[in-house]
Amino acid sequence: MNTKLLEAYKKSFNTKPLKYFSSPCRINLIGEHTDYNKGLALPAAISKYIQAVVGIRSDRKISLKSLEKSKVVTVDLDNISNKPENRWGNYPLGIFATLQKRGYKLPFGLDIIFYSNVPIASGLSSSASLLDLTAFIASIMYDIPLDKKEIALLAHQSETEFNGLLCGVMDEFAIALGKKDKCILLDCKDNSFTYEDISFQDLSLVVIVSNVRRSLIASPYNKRVEECNSALKIIQKQFDVASLSDIKVSDLPMCRKLIKDDVLYKRVRHIVNENQRVRDFVKASKSGDIRSMIHLLNESHESLRDDYEVTGEYLDYIHEISLKYGAFAERMTGAGFGGSSIALIKQRDFKSFKENLTRDYINKYHIKPTIFLADICDGLSVEDIK
Ligand code: ADP
Ligand code: MG
Repeated sequence: MNTKLLEAYKKSFNTKPLKYFSSPCRINLIGEHTDYNKGLALPAAISKYIQAVVGIRSDRKISLKSLEKSKVVTVDLDNISNKPENRWGNYPLGIFATLQKRGYKLPFGLDIIFYSNVPIASGLSSSASLLDLTAFIASIMYDIPLDKKEIALLAHQSETEFNGLLCGVMDEFAIALGKKDKCILLDCKDNSFTYEDISFQDLSLVVIVSNVRRSLIASPYNKRVEECNSALKIIQKQFDVASLSDIKVSDLPMCRKLIKDDVLYKRVRHIVNENQRVRDFVKASKSGDIRSMIHLLNESHESLRDDYEVTGEYLDYIHEISLKYGAFAERMTGAGFGGSSIALIKQRDFKSFKENLTRDYINKYHIKPTIFLADICDGLSVEDIK
């Protein structure tokens, strides 16, 4: 329980604080931009959290405060729409709108205060963390029986329909279904998943946040989704495939012949190879083949840089200097366009790795990166406030 957050709630609202909620963020080991192409991903929840204290109001207003934001957002449950003046509040508000769209009656308003140590808009999915958290809050406070998978799907519906990002389900699944020390092998074709023990042997997983702020809604994210859809339409004229993830690596020469546009073909090549990399990575982990795992992680970054063109100069520079300063593997994680990356290093090298990276990155960009060891953790949680 975060007592400072509880105190902040009492200062901000007159209602009784009833419950305390917490939601992690996520990394993705491999399988990037595959989720909205109905492909494979291998994410895990990590222990940076958005926390919330929640109470019940006597009217029908949802009042939202975030210790990270100055704007307090108060909206009537009967009048929720995505408005620019709601700013960050449009994320949590979307959950209430989506539940009502699905036909649920929400009989009373809520006061909610959020605190977060998740880097915001940095590729570790603070948006999905906030959405899953709010969906979980609503399911508990309104007694709507939703399991963790349904929470993820509700949050995903909200992010796509209410917030307008044409994203896949990976972020919402990783956070809602997170399990200590496990990675989630997610197949976005049917949203099925298995928990996997991924072993890095004597290497440790590090997260590097570039601290280059970007808004995904304003980034070329939706453009990549559209490019994939255009390429799929061309392929579907000749072949019976439901998504780019139905295409095998051995089908790529056939795709090259069909797709005249070089850029579109590169997008397809990334998706097809990336799905195969996920399969190969899980297989390599099962057989203890760390060399192949390292190779696949680096290859994934190169493919996202050269074929999918989403890494950007900051993450490419981090990739370059990470390998120079002792990382065995390094790749961007999440959507890219700035954001974060992950690396595998020897734990005893962590201090010098962090110092070297920080120094070089500050020298070049005058921005301090955030670097920490990843701790894979459980997903959503709730506690009563006595
Ligand atoms: P990412 O999901 O990679 O962190 P996005 O651009 O998808 O980045 O989402 C970031 C947005 O989510 C922020 O601009 C803000 O609107 C919202 N958000 C995330 N965390 C918080 C928080 N703790 N308080 C308020 N808003 C938040
Ligand atoms: Mg996001």
